[in-house]
Amino acid sequence: MGKKKELIRELEITDLAAEGFGIGRNNGKVVFVPYVAPGDIVDVQPGRNRKKFQEGRAIKFHKHSEIRTRPFCEHFGTCGGCKWQHIPYEQQAAFKEQQVKDQLSRLSTIELPHINSIITAPEEKYYRNKLEYTFSNQRWLTTEEIQSGEKIERRGVGFHIPKMFDKILDLNECFLQDPISSDIRNSLKEFALKSDFSFYNVHDHKGLLRNLIIRNTTKGDLMVIVQFGEDQTEQIKSVMDFLSDRFPEITSLFYVINLKKNETFHDQELILYKGEPFIKESLGETIYQIGPKSFFQTNSKQAKSMYDLVLEYAELSGSELVYDLYTGTGTIANYLAKHAKKVVGVEYVPEAIEDAKINSEINGITNTSFFSGDMAEVLNDDFVKENGKPDLIITDPPRAGMHEKVIKSILDVQAEKIIYVSCNPATQARDLTLLDEKYSVKIVQPIDMFPHTQHVECVVLLQLRD
Ligand code: SAH
Repeated sequence: MGKKKELIRELEITDLAAEGFGIGRNNGKVVFVPYVAPGDIVDVQPGRNRKKFQEGRAIKFHKHSEIRTRPFCEHFGTCGGCKWQHIPYEQQAAFKEQQVKDQLSRLSTIELPHINSIITAPEEKYYRNKLEYTFSNQRWLTTEEIQSGEKIERRGVGFHIPKMFDKILDLNECFLQDPISSDIRNSLKEFALKSDFSFYNVHDHKGLLRNLIIRNTTKGDLMVIVQFGEDQTEQIKSVMDFLSDRFPEITSLFYVINLKKNETFHDQELILYKGEPFIKESLGETIYQIGPKSFFQTNSKQAKSMYDLVLEYAELSGSELVYDLYTGTGTIANYLAKHAKKVVGVEYVPEAIEDAKINSEINGITNTSFFSGDMAEVLNDDFVKENGKPDLIITDPPRAGMHEKVIKSILDVQAEKIIYVSCNPATQARDLTLLDEKYSVKIVQPIDMFPHTQHVECVVLLQLRD
């Protein structure tokens, strides 16, 4: 046993970090603390200690920050979902805007224009169109539950406790998705407990109920996917019949029997139990078909605001050739297609490219083409010769940003304009510095897609220098 670490006493929280933690300084060292706000003064139980920083947990509050507000969800403090509920939304937005400013100015050496005020999300709750709940027969117990001495039901369904892959927080409520989502989850749990069905155990890989995915659209389509960890025909039928009878609003009901050790099901056969094999979302004039394996931006309404920004910055006249890099299911490509001469989309995942093509088809769009492959390999001289030199490049890479080879290819292509959509201002800052060789930044527009989380998106317009 190591010796018990000494408390950090009366630490003043001065800021919020990019990862969502509160930050204080103890003897010159940065301390990261979750679920606190700037202005709080707390005693901290130290956790991991690294060379450059220290982690810890607030165990006593000496002063509560004046900016605090009351968290609206009973699971705040344990759940990893909405870590900033104790901070009013306007303040969250201001922190995110500052985050973009700090990252871009600290991590890049380029000349920046005035950074626009962040576009806030119109809805602070129920904004997600997809949630994934995990069943467990070893749910997380609160200290009170453990101390109560009573016999406790260990089966539960909800979200993973941060950093603990095998511990699931059993949810009563959740404000991230339309209330039907919690209604389905809670009713299914009640039914399964009454029927005495087993819940999954990640250690011995046994248990019938494994995972529940709920997806909805702004039009009211509702997809439910139940993942089973055992092939028990009768029990599966009873679960699926229960959902089908109890929730007639489900428009697409699937199940999958996944006997693999991990719960990803992209390589598994999904069985349609009832309804349509997909749901449909429409953003503006464009319709998107979303299958159980399809990627789609998780905040539909704010995704539309973001695509409208892209459309505005693109200033398309109808004669332009556009590349949409990291196109996913071709969402941006199809959104812009009617305004351009042609849009070419590139994406890693072949299934996403299939969806992108279907989405063109159902919208009567004939001026798109889509290619799948690793961007660093696909985007080269031959590709540009084949598909033409673009007037505009849109790029929306994952959090890691763009591979250097991709940046080099973009610099070689010399499109007049680039619109860079990013979910990570740190890697965006790095990439903008590399693009600075030929491009100047004209607009920086932060936009919030995920209230109560630390995440921020940023849309940047770049112009080729003369
Ligand atoms: N623009 C899309 C989705 C962007 S998410 C939308 O708005 O819906 C980023 C996408 O980049 C993902 O679909 C991911 O599969 C893809 N991706 C990640 N690494 C890649 C790589 N090396 N080459 C090509 N695509 C990649």
